[in-house]
Amino acid sequence: MAADRSESATVLAADVGGSFIRMATVALPSCEIEQTVERKTPTEDAETFLASIAEATAYFSGTERPEAPLAIAIAGTIHPQSRVVTSANIPCLNGVDLERALSERLDRPVALLNDANAFALAESKIGVGRGHAIVFGAVLGTGIGGGLIIDGRVIDGAWGIAGEWGHGPIANQQPSSLDRPLPRLPCGCGRTGCVDTFGGARGLERLHRALGHPPASSHDIVCGWKSTRPDCTQTITIWAEMVSEPLTLAINVTGASLVPTGGGLGSDPDLMALLNREVRARISHQTTEPVVIPGMLKRDAGLIGAALLWRNTWQATE
Ligand SMILES: [Zn+2]
Repeated sequence: MAADRSESATVLAADVGGSFIRMATVALPSCEIEQTVERKTPTEDAETFLASIAEATAYFSGTERPEAPLAIAIAGTIHPQSRVVTSANIPCLNGVDLERALSERLDRPVALLNDANAFALAESKIGVGRGHAIVFGAVLGTGIGGGLIIDGRVIDGAWGIAGEWGHGPIANQQPSSLDRPLPRLPCGCGRTGCVDTFGGARGLERLHRALGHPPASSHDIVCGWKSTRPDCTQTITIWAEMVSEPLTLAINVTGASLVPTGGGLGSDPDLMALLNREVRARISHQTTEPVVIPGMLKRDAGLIGAALLWRNTWQATE
């Protein structure tokens, strides 16, 4: 019986971001996504959030086995002991034990993990990181996130924040090609000088303005760099230096041999080729292989990572 469960199962998986909830049935072990629904994420009220998840779950009634567990990748951290959620993007969930609240409401097992960890787990198992024992997933989306996978397991650490390389006072405020220091900006995490303040899409836009250029979207800055516009080229050159330094440190510390990247900036092959060159010029271990590579699972990574977490949990308890 136990062998059947680990070899073949259908998991109901959800990817919960600050804007949208995407839910799907995921077949294991193939990781095939069979059916999806999408809802807006309620962010103001926990009861409305729980009701929205329950409604989306009910959509699958009759298409999956009644006991199918629900695995959720969420834009937030989960405390390893208390299981309480902390989420900047979904403030109504701060302090909520979402696993317990949902499992009682939906009468089925519920498992939760951070969405960057889900991305890293999915890419390490069936994406570009397959075959690598240590994978450090780096999300360069609206902000910066990360996840560390060792031997197929999520390492979330004592506080559930292992792999979060975007926060901490580590951004280089004096890039080598600039004759003046950059301002040390406050971060959404409450500190100042985080890589996140200049590193993600919003950070790139902030950096562009801090360099004295007119406001532009991250998309326009990247496009301008590709068409060799001088202002965008300066911004991207400095951005690559500022992001590659802490990413190099993360690689040196963890011993990761591959860094799959996700999110809007992390999905751009040209930008990631630049970041790969900058990182490889700095890491202690010289290699001829690419280290920083855009993930291949795209928007399905969160759903697949959540389903894979469930399989890991099953196997660990058998
Ligand atoms: Zn921060």
